[in-house]
Amino acid sequence: MSTTRKLPELFGSLVFNEETMKDRLSSASYGAWKTCVTEGTSLDISTANEIAEAMKQWAVEKGATHYTHWFQPMTGVTAEKHDSFIVPAGGGRIIMEFSGKELVRGESDASSFPSGGLRATFEARGYTAWDPTSFAFIKEGSLCIPTIFCSYSGHALDKKMPLLRSMDEVSRQAIRILRLFGDTETKRVTPQVGPEQEYFLIDKADYAKRKDLRMCGRTLFGAKPPRSQELEDHYFGAIRPRVAAYMKDLDETLWELGILSKTKHNEAAPCQHEMAPIFSDANTACDQNQLAMEMMKKVAEKHGLVCLLHEKPFAGVNGSGKHDNWSLATDTGKNLFKPGSTPSQNARFLLFLAAFIKGVDDYQDFLRATVAFPGNDHRLGGYEAPPAVISIFLGAELGGVVESIIKGTHFQESGKRTLQIGVDVLPAIPQDNTDRNRTSPMAFTGNKFEFRMLGSSQSVSGPNIALNTIMAEELKQFADQLEGSSDFQSDLQALIKKTFTEHQRIIFDGNGYDDAWLKEAEARGLSNLKSTADALPAYIAPKNADLFVKHGIYTREEIQARYEIHVENYNTVLTIEAHTMADMIRHDILPAVSAYADALCQRAYHKETMGVPHRYETETASRIAHLTDTLLEHCTNLESHMAALPADAADAMQYIHQVVIPDMAAARAAADQLETVTDRTYWPFPGYSDMLFYV
Ligand code: ADP
Ligand code: MG
Repeated sequence: MSTTRKLPELFGSLVFNEETMKDRLSSASYGAWKTCVTEGTSLDISTANEIAEAMKQWAVEKGATHYTHWFQPMTGVTAEKHDSFIVPAGGGRIIMEFSGKELVRGESDASSFPSGGLRATFEARGYTAWDPTSFAFIKEGSLCIPTIFCSYSGHALDKKMPLLRSMDEVSRQAIRILRLFGDTETKRVTPQVGPEQEYFLIDKADYAKRKDLRMCGRTLFGAKPPRSQELEDHYFGAIRPRVAAYMKDLDETLWELGILSKTKHNEAAPCQHEMAPIFSDANTACDQNQLAMEMMKKVAEKHGLVCLLHEKPFAGVNGSGKHDNWSLATDTGKNLFKPGSTPSQNARFLLFLAAFIKGVDDYQDFLRATVAFPGNDHRLGGYEAPPAVISIFLGAELGGVVESIIKGTHFQESGKRTLQIGVDVLPAIPQDNTDRNRTSPMAFTGNKFEFRMLGSSQSVSGPNIALNTIMAEELKQFADQLEGSSDFQSDLQALIKKTFTEHQRIIFDGNGYDDAWLKEAEARGLSNLKSTADALPAYIAPKNADLFVKHGIYTREEIQARYEIHVENYNTVLTIEAHTMADMIRHDILPAVSAYADALCQRAYHKETMGVPHRYETETASRIAHLTDTLLEHCTNLESHMAALPADAADAMQYIHQVVIPDMAAARAAADQLETVTDRTYWPFPGYSDMLFYV
């Protein structure tokens, strides 16, 4: 990371990007690659060979010695297996080689990746195939080739293959709609994604002393510090030098990798921060967010810090989310969610808006399921993140337009005319209304939707697969109706009005944290899936499975497999948390508080013999002894319940949710009370005040 290099020179210097390809490939091969990317054609082996050779030469010049097919299995993190370029050349020498075959297709023993039963154990191989739409890059001496990962029988085992399928599908359907509006030019519509990434930074020394952070990524214990975020002095506050140095290093690392890191600031909780890149196509955004999360952790280590991406590392202060900004753009440079300046552009905008509103309403339970996993259960509905109920915020201006269309009334601003879709222009819709609703799970922010329920650690792939597919479905329904229309303008008007009317229940501009909203949402018939255990079954609800099968995004087996993987993941994460908790109680907390109570008793005894008052020692020892026994009891319950976990995975998930989590909460409450009465020198690990206000 040379700080002396200028930013434009630094940016993307470790990426085999389009410019580099143009430079280093014959024009025929460059052209073939370009058509492959824009039109989805396949590459022949001679082109692949040429690209592979150019990639290798470039990578070797940059100091790379290995290559790896870089993929995104269902673990949610990326995977890589490195092969060196070396080939023996006789006489004990080597040459560096890399063929088109090796570029295009890899084979990896993948029996340890989650497959949800898709890959029988006797067929342990998985295949990786190059995704030419995402640039290769160099990371730690290896040329990384973004790839999809599938089973021998072609089933998707990763988070990329279905994302690419969903991008193709939404493009296909959106183009049908664009043609109806007389657009004959657009060849491709691409979902655009900008993921805002929150994270915590704590000191490495504290981290090393906390088994819960090391094993689970979050604290399982911790009494509330005397001060947390109530002063609201951290959000957008001045960045302290150590954090600033980290952020600078991170920016440079991301820029080298071609990641458009744009914004950095402090977040609401102490030691919480955010990095937001400039948006890009959904596939690149997803790849780059995975890479960014990896780099955030690695760069932290160099600074003696640990970057926590968990949704809720600390109870009592805000958790970390990831806002998924999403829109649709044409290859001709139009954003289909941008209100236009002409009646026709506006009609198009309103139709895409109607499709989105209908889609979110129709598939709210599935969208909820895409953000359901243990870490996020600590946030959603917790008065800091959106509630577990999905609704759409449109803002006063656009909300007013939609309402006037539904009611057929004059719309507010003009106060004179009834809005004629396709004839009138819309009132100006401010791009950046500063008072926009931060409590909404799905907010229209001028020219994009911001899906705010994602957890900070999760891959953005799942939620974007859902948004793309849902949008494809609604656009398909609209195109099916309108393509046969003999009076396009009036049918369009009627369709938009009908859609807004039937789906207005999903629109809500009020305070999503308010209990009154939960009651109203229930009256509106909106689903409120409060936890992962409640939400995951929506993954395989027939209506949802049908949607994905119909559009060729998942086969029925693939969606079932994904559901099973998510359930397994829930059980695994909570099993680790439960065992870590019991371990820390038995090996750290109980011995420490017992020793402290004993010390107090000895002091009290000593004072007694000396005839000195010892109320403090006696009362504290007694309080500790009571709490110690309570803690022991909760720990024993937790252990015996964990031993009785049902064998069936779905049953185990419900059991954990209903029985084990309350055990853990009770044990934590007792332990946290003990922390508040125990001498600091006895308490076995750093507390919240040490960790949160140190960096
Ligand atoms: P904030 O929500 O924090 O106020 P912005 O609205 O400026 O910030 O942008 C948040 C994210 O949305 C950024 O990553 C930005 O690049 C992205 N973004 C902006 N426009 C679009 C768009 N049309 N489609 C998708 N993402 C977008
Ligand atoms: Mg935002």
